[in-house]
Amino acid sequence: MRPAPQSFSLSLFADNPSPRATQAQPSPPTAPAPPGVEAPLSAALTALRSGLDKLAPSDRDFAQSLLASASGRGLSEKQTAWAHRLARKLTSKPVVIGEMAGLIALLDRAQTNLKRPRLLSRAGSVDIRITIAGPASRTPGALMVTDAKAGDIGRAFYGRISRDGVFEAGKDLDPDLEPFLLNALRSIATDPQGAAMRFGRVTGACCFCALPLQNAASVSAGYGPICAEKWGLPWGEVREYHTHA
Ligand SMILES: [Zn+2]
Repeated sequence: MRPAPQSFSLSLFADNPSPRATQAQPSPPTAPAPPGVEAPLSAALTALRSGLDKLAPSDRDFAQSLLASASGRGLSEKQTAWAHRLARKLTSKPVVIGEMAGLIALLDRAQTNLKRPRLLSRAGSVDIRITIAGPASRTPGALMVTDAKAGDIGRAFYGRISRDGVFEAGKDLDPDLEPFLLNALRSIATDPQGAAMRFGRVTGACCFCALPLQNAASVSAGYGPICAEKWGLPWGEVREYHTHA
């Protein structure tokens, strides 16, 4: 038989940025999800149970450990989030964003001057942030898409794009946001500089550092002169702004 589910769950959680949060805390007695907000946990568990063989091996072992916990002492808040996330993997198909070479080159180049280059953009009414996953990540080099909140804690994880352009939805991606997010990611991938310009026009903030843009040349570019230098981009001409047909 398989190794004890418990050890799997612990070793997998050890990969997680905040393993301490996974220490099983007694679940609150009953906390039913508000109807219509998220599929109930039972639906996620049913999806996992019936779709185990469709998961990648490491996800499958993890899902089995979650199912074992669920029928035993119950799931912690963190485990519940993972159950939903794995169930979502089963129901969502991979989405192709497109050719990523231009965007990746832009971010890679900035990495020579910046520890953690980040690109801001807007998806619908939500500001998003794109960074490159570091070497310690489960998917080093992938493009990580989160909300644009400052600081390192509590950002919503919307998904990741592999370097060959396949998007995988993250646990915090609301289905209402998804079409806007995919549109935004496609237009950033196609034309990173055009996306920068649009962000500057719409928000008046630099698409790299989020500081207010101070003059017409910066608004036109979507970034200020300091960021232009760090990112190896032109700055100083007020250019025509083209939208896609
Ligand atoms: Zn800036």
